[in-house]
Order: sequence, then structure tokens, then C-alpha cells
Amino acid sequence: MLGLMQDWPLLCTKILDHAAIYHGNRGVISRSIEGPIERVTYGELRHRALKVAQRLERDGIKLGDRCATLAWNTARHMEVWYGLLGIGAIYHTVNPRLFPEQIAWIINHAEDRFLFVDLTFLPIIEKIRDQLTTIEKIIVLTDAAHMPETTLDVVAYEEWLGQADGDFVWKQFDENTAAGICYTSGTTGNPKGVVYSHRSNVLHAMMAMQVDMLGLSSRDRVMPVVPLFHANGWSLAFSAPMVGAAMVMPGGRMDGEAIWELLDTEKVTFTAAVPTVWLMLLEYLERTGKTLPYLERVVIGGSACPRAMTKKFEDIYDVRVIHAWGMTEMSPLGSVCTLKPEYASLEGDARLDIQEKQGHPPFTIEMKVTDDAGADLPWDGKTFGRLKVRGPAVTGAYFKGEGGAVLDEDGFFDTGDVAHIDPCGYMQITDRAKDVIKSGGEWISTIDLENIAVGHPDVTEAAAIGIAHPKWDERPLLVIVAKEGTHPTREDIIAYMEGKIAKWWMPDDVVIVDEIPHTATGKIKKTTLRETFADYRLP
Ligand code: ADP
Repeated sequence: MLGLMQDWPLLCTKILDHAAIYHGNRGVISRSIEGPIERVTYGELRHRALKVAQRLERDGIKLGDRCATLAWNTARHMEVWYGLLGIGAIYHTVNPRLFPEQIAWIINHAEDRFLFVDLTFLPIIEKIRDQLTTIEKIIVLTDAAHMPETTLDVVAYEEWLGQADGDFVWKQFDENTAAGICYTSGTTGNPKGVVYSHRSNVLHAMMAMQVDMLGLSSRDRVMPVVPLFHANGWSLAFSAPMVGAAMVMPGGRMDGEAIWELLDTEKVTFTAAVPTVWLMLLEYLERTGKTLPYLERVVIGGSACPRAMTKKFEDIYDVRVIHAWGMTEMSPLGSVCTLKPEYASLEGDARLDIQEKQGHPPFTIEMKVTDDAGADLPWDGKTFGRLKVRGPAVTGAYFKGEGGAVLDEDGFFDTGDVAHIDPCGYMQITDRAKDVIKSGGEWISTIDLENIAVGHPDVTEAAAIGIAHPKWDERPLLVIVAKEGTHPTREDIIAYMEGKIAKWWMPDDVVIVDEIPHTATGKIKKTTLRETFADYRLP
């Protein structure tokens, strides 16, 4: 016998409808690419998204067609997203920090038909236009007055949109219809496309906003510093309107000062980004003596959140750190480190020990760690192995079948991360499988080494890599960036790390560099570091 409840397909546009109807007083505040701060209510944003949908349909974009965006976080970017969703077309958020050839490759692979591009990124498109074989129309996200000189055949977004009146109803289709595509950065081989569905996006947003996950409410003012093009924008363009929270979009300025300005003037209560962004903000605060009187919670994920960062946010600025782990393939949330009753009363170092973990999964994520043969490992908080996940917002395959079958025989996806899980169900990542240092047949966690090193007051950033060693296979080399005006020595760092790690984990050498390379999503680029130090001789 089947249940007798209504058939109400989980379509993403219903999120925007809900925000507009029940939270119409609030909306999205953006630092525009042109400069000024702009404000729209959810009602206005919905109306503009309906115009996008109407205009796209008039231009012949159909269910299943892909359109690319190359844009910062702004209300315009968000209304394009929802406009595409409203006719069953697919938003493809492209990361503008990739190399131009990679951008061209990804757009061609996705067979995008239209390209929505911010003023900032037009020069990139000018360079690669003749390589873009499927793009029929380029729409610049600005008005006629701000259109720059360009050799390209382009149209100003506001002109294009002005030809629609918004008298349109969202198209209806199956909730399993594709909604968006996001490519993984592909540190090895070509990037692979992850294809979200309307259903997976809606379910994911519902699980992400829960109190023990991101804990969003209509009283929050949410600033996604994490770009919409990084791992589905961590779903914030869905979960924030779903609860009716006001949103603050930082546009193209990501420096410490610009981020602080918005946090302060717009009284942001909740924000999210990778550690490198918070490094810049904390540096700015330290330099200027500014504070964070309105900010309540900061989500830190994408790379491990160092203990020193958590301590600074919580002890100095009274901002609660929410350490989260996820990946593009998981829409992206996999676990969040909020405190269950078992840990809630911990204080000081014992609490920080827990907050270093990536946390526990929400409902809909099943998680396990296995050995290389696929056998389950115990949840003792020590035994690490391959981290595998299953759930309705976890990828089952890549776009066009790239990479072949990605699930094991039980339907679990191998994350490529190495982790352990403790008896309370808290997972901790020790490494990416490809970054782990293998010394004398045992593994050394680079994340642990880095987290400890950045606790040293003179260290801004740290990266550990394995260097080939005749006896031990590999030994750790620690590469650090020193805080401005300081000159820590190898001996200082080693002395600081002593007693905090097992003796045989101690880096064989410490090298100070001006800068550590980062990926297009702001993570330490270990591949480049390994190349740089390929011929390095350990003492
Ligand atoms: P990209 O590599 O393109 O930035 P993802 O954001 O999908 O793509 O990367 C996911 C990977 O980032 C995870 O598999 C994991 O290795 C790493 N990661 C994400 N969050 C954390 C975290 N909190 N701690 C440690 N590693 C993390």
C-alpha cells in the first residue's frame, strides 16, 4: 500500500517562492561589481529570476540545457541561478581562478550554450572566445552604462533582462531533473563534472540548515564568502532563503578589510569560507585592532581548520567556529563539528581537541572507514582508513561517465580522504590519500603537522610534504610562511613541535618560503610544492 500524501516535487524554485512569500521583507545585499552596495528583497529577486527564466525560454534555452556563469557572489548571480532552475536548465558555475585553458575545457565539456560573465572576467573570455565551441551568447552581468569596450559579441545583462516582464510561471518537471553542474578542480587529470538534481539540492539544504549542522534561522544574516562556484556554494544560496535569512554577498573583494567592512556594516551573524580567507581576516583584525561585534558563527571548511584559528576566533573575538567537511561530490556537506551532549561541557584544550575533528554527519549521510580491502575499521578514534559515504546528495557518477564507476558494491563513494571515527561518531580527516607521508611503512598525517606548526606565533601558514628517503621511503618536510617581521628558525619550530607529536613524525627539515601556492579554491597546492621540492635533500 502506498501513502496518500500529496505529490509535491522537490524543485529548487520552491525555495525562492517560500522566501519571497514568507520572508519578503528580507533579501540579498550585494557589493556590486560596479562598486556600490545594492539591495533586493526576496520578492524582487524572485521577480527578476522569473524574468531570467522567461528571457532564456524566449532565446530557446530548454530543459536540460547547460549555461555557464563566471561570476562572483552577487544577487545577480543568484537570480541567474534560479532563473535557469525555473525552466529546468542547468546552472554551471565555473571557477574563474582556473587557468583560461581549463575554463575553456570545462565549458566545452559541459556544452554550455550561454555564458553569464562578470565585468571582472571579460578579459579571460576575450582570450579564449575562439576556443569556446558551444557558447552561442555571452551576457555581461552589468547594465548598458557600465559596458566596457570589447572585441566580443556580447549583450548587457540588464538590457537583455529588460525585454522580459516577469509574467511567467516556473516550469514543472520531475524532482530528479538535473539542476546544476560543478567541476572538481582535478588536481590530477581533467576536472570531472558533478551533476546535482533539484531533489538532491533541496534535501541537502534541509539537512544543512539543521541546528546541529549549520543551524540557520530567519534571524541570521548570512554571508557566503565561499563563492557560488566552489562546491555548489556550500548550498548557502539554497539553505539561507529556505529559512528566510537575509544574505550578504561580498562580490569581488575578498581581502580582510573588505570582508570586515561588510561583516560590520551589514551586521552579519553567520559566514562561511575556507581557512585562507579567515587567515586574511584575522591578520587584518590583528593589524587594525578591529573587532567582530555582530558575527556569531563562522563555518570553516574546504581544508582542515587549524586549532590556533579556532582559538583566536573564539577566545579573542567571541565567534563560534563551526568546523565542517565536505566535497563537491557531496553537494557538499559531509560532516559538521557541533558538540553533542557527550562533548558539550568540555572546555579549554579538551574542547579544542574535539573541534579539530571534522565532526559528525547529518541525517542522510552514511559514513564508514575501511581498509584497502574494503573491510570496516573500528570507530575507536585512532584506526584510520579510507573514508566512504552514501546518501541522496552524494554523487553516483560523474558527468558523461568520466572516471567510470565510482561506487563500491554497497553503493558507497570513496572520498579519497583518510580518516578515523571516534566512538561518538566524530570523524577526523588525517589526510588526502594522495598527500599522506609514508615513513617506514607507517603513515604520518600532514594535516596534524600543519595544524601544530601554525600554532607557533611566528607562523602564518604551513604545509607538510613527503620527501623521498633511502631508508624510510619518505620523510616529512615542513614548508612555512613566517609572519611579517619575524624570522623563526628551523630549531624554533622543531622545539615548538616537540612533545606535541610522536618523535618519528617530527619533520626532518623546515623551510621558510615567501608564499605557499594555492589551488583555485584556496587550498594548499601540494602537487606544486612537491614539484618545487622534488630534488630537495634532507639534512
Ligand atoms: P576542490 O578540491 O575542487 O576544492 P572540494 O571542495 O570538493 O574540491 O574538495 C574536497 C576535499 O577537500 C575533501 O575531500 C577533503 O580532502 C578536503 N576538505 C574539505 N573540508 C575539509 C576539512 N574541514 N578538513 C580537511 N579537509 C577538508
